[in-house]
Amino acid sequence: MNLDILIQKCESTGALSRDEILYALNLDSKTDIARLIGAADAVRKANCGDDVQIRALVEISNTCARQCLYCGIRAPNTHIHRYRMPPDEIVELAKELDQKGLRTIVMQSGEDPYYTAEMVADIIGKIKRDTQMAVTLCFGERPESDYRLWKQAGADRYLLRHEAANRELYKALHPDSDYGQRMHCLHILRRLGYQVGAGCMIGAPGQGVEHLADDIEYFRDFQPDMAGIGPYIPHPDTPFADHPTGTVEMTLKMVALTRIVTRNALLPATTAIGSIEERGREMALEAGADVVMPNYTPLKYRVHYEIYPNKRCITEDPAHCDSCMRLRI
Ligand code: SAH
Repeated sequence: MNLDILIQKCESTGALSRDEILYALNLDSKTDIARLIGAADAVRKANCGDDVQIRALVEISNTCARQCLYCGIRAPNTHIHRYRMPPDEIVELAKELDQKGLRTIVMQSGEDPYYTAEMVADIIGKIKRDTQMAVTLCFGERPESDYRLWKQAGADRYLLRHEAANRELYKALHPDSDYGQRMHCLHILRRLGYQVGAGCMIGAPGQGVEHLADDIEYFRDFQPDMAGIGPYIPHPDTPFADHPTGTVEMTLKMVALTRIVTRNALLPATTAIGSIEERGREMALEAGADVVMPNYTPLKYRVHYEIYPNKRCITEDPAHCDSCMRLRI
């Protein structure tokens, strides 16, 4: 395969074949990778412009019913303090964020059945009534009726990383979850009219370059509105504690290829890449990403939302995050 022709195709249509995706993922010289990243940057500029979108992340609960083998807040982990933000506190925080000028609130949590469909709908309804903000949800897999109720209450977007487009890898990472169900949820969310976010970790245990090609093909074929891509980071209190961290280089190649095959999807420069490399988020923004998600979870809760250790921005107060993030952009 010829790199010049591939780069041209990346910039013109992005309709890459599996062989082309694999070729790009296997590039290993610094100059070749820089060309791929440069193509993604050009595609980002042409399709999304130069604005960086800001999304306020609020981690409302670290209580989780699932056993995902990589995740620090998995149900069997007894070493963490579990919290739940009371609904009123979430709504009050949303109003403050609105006052600060933030335009989107992303509420994320473990899979926590404590928040009934009605409770969440009530929170969404109040935020939509009292603020101008778009509401994004990231609560994992729920019944279609919950997703429908939340859409009717005014929710705009839903993030549900597909985690692994390859069925066997998905199973190896999620002993108590079902691949078909995850994919089904993504399709339901789209049918209900949500803007849908997919995504995956890079360097997850057992993941090889063929699996990553499956993920890029998935992005190419499903065309999510958003895609969250960050490195895998081992957590000491999980069965995968000893598995190595994903690399910055492969994460950037994946961000670049996702930009190339989706053209205009919203791509966050994730906290995870910022956690393994000081300039990680800036590098992602230069490789096709166009969103940042500063963490506005109240400090007393934030330290406990430890899906992986040494998370960035774990102790800074929100005012500092705001100025720091603007500076970085
Ligand atoms: N329960 C929600 C939110 C999960 S946390 C859901 O199911 O969607 C958000 C994301 O963090 C997950 O989708 C996963 O991709 C990522 N994550 C979890 N553990 C991680 C780890 N150890 N390293 C890097 N990312 C991780």
